[in-house]
Amino acid sequence: MQLSSILSRFSEPETLKMAKLSRELRAQGVDVVDLSVGEPDFDTPDHIKVAAKKAIDENWSHYTPVPGYPDLRQAVCQKLKRDNNLDYKPEEIVTSTGAKQSLANAILALVDDGEEVIIPTPYWVTYSELVKIARGKVVEVHTSLESGFKITPDQLEAAITPKTKLFLFSSPCNPSGAVYGKKELEALAGVFRKHPGIAIISDEIYEYINYIGKHESIAQFADLKDRIIIVNGLSKGFAMTGWRLGYIAAPVEIAKACEKLQGQFTSATNSITQKAAVTALTADLKPSYAMVEEFTRRRQKTMELVSKIPGIKCFNPEGAFYIFPDISSFFGKSDGTTTIRNSNDLCMYLLNTAHVSSVMGDAFGEPHCIRFSFANSMPNIEKAWGRIKEALAKLK
Ligand code: PLP
Repeated sequence: MQLSSILSRFSEPETLKMAKLSRELRAQGVDVVDLSVGEPDFDTPDHIKVAAKKAIDENWSHYTPVPGYPDLRQAVCQKLKRDNNLDYKPEEIVTSTGAKQSLANAILALVDDGEEVIIPTPYWVTYSELVKIARGKVVEVHTSLESGFKITPDQLEAAITPKTKLFLFSSPCNPSGAVYGKKELEALAGVFRKHPGIAIISDEIYEYINYIGKHESIAQFADLKDRIIIVNGLSKGFAMTGWRLGYIAAPVEIAKACEKLQGQFTSATNSITQKAAVTALTADLKPSYAMVEEFTRRRQKTMELVSKIPGIKCFNPEGAFYIFPDISSFFGKSDGTTTIRNSNDLCMYLLNTAHVSSVMGDAFGEPHCIRFSFANSMPNIEKAWGRIKEALAKLK
């Protein structure tokens, strides 16, 4: 059977590939420590689970409106006011089966054949692939460890052409952990003001997992708000990855376009998740902050352990739960059997020798780096970094 050409335009997520390889090794009885994970290892807070059980008992079991129940869209508006001091109306909110679907909806709603999408590196694996599905052209703007993995206004200006349609970024960033402050966003806003045709997708899914202070959204600049699409969701901040709830806050025209696409793809996310999400978004955030406290300890431990390994250069993440070190000093080295030519080779070496899974930097647009998660228990973090240190020491 000849499959459609769409399939040849994009790759399967590298993150999911690594998770699959570790599962296979584990099934063979190998004790693999998974540092490729992109989700909190905590359980969903009890009050959210109670709300879901109540929704089942109350028979919220039918199709829902495509953009979500009215009370859920209202709850998103409330959250945006409470946390971000942003004013949105329910008709500007579309909920979905996760931030991933929200991104897909928004990219398909905006990008046409050959239009350019500027994405600062490193970026979340799915961004570039969704742009390719939409037949857009990815324009990578490279950042570095030295620049704190943040794009400068000059870099942004230089990347803009008459074909630029969209700028797409995450803050806090997966995988680098970079968090843009208000001044840095203001500087980028200055460039966007000169180019009124460019839309901006601001992926804020790691909003609560921030180690340096208050989350800042680029949507705070009121004169740009009519072309900003905030993407957010419950997966990371509420430990609800499996529940599948994402949302956008966007100008009505874009919200309606996303609703139209979603109406043909999935209708909406499930009714029980929607009801539980109302509770998650409007209740006290204490459980989320408790998770962040634990991530803070793990981040500190991870940085402490990594700093003792020669050859690894690492940025102290300001948000999210990953480190994204430069490991290029190992390229060209060998343990006598395996030669490391690139970050993929090093990931596979660490998986097979140290039994630790990670994700190669190429998938995020930065081939000198590897992503390691610290969304794992403290004992596992200590075990993994002990093994990594030993395996890397064998490379000469
Ligand atoms: N955006 C970023 C930056 C992510 O890291 C992820 C998940 O890893 C998502 C979006 C997707 O989140 P969701 O589970 O809501 O689809």
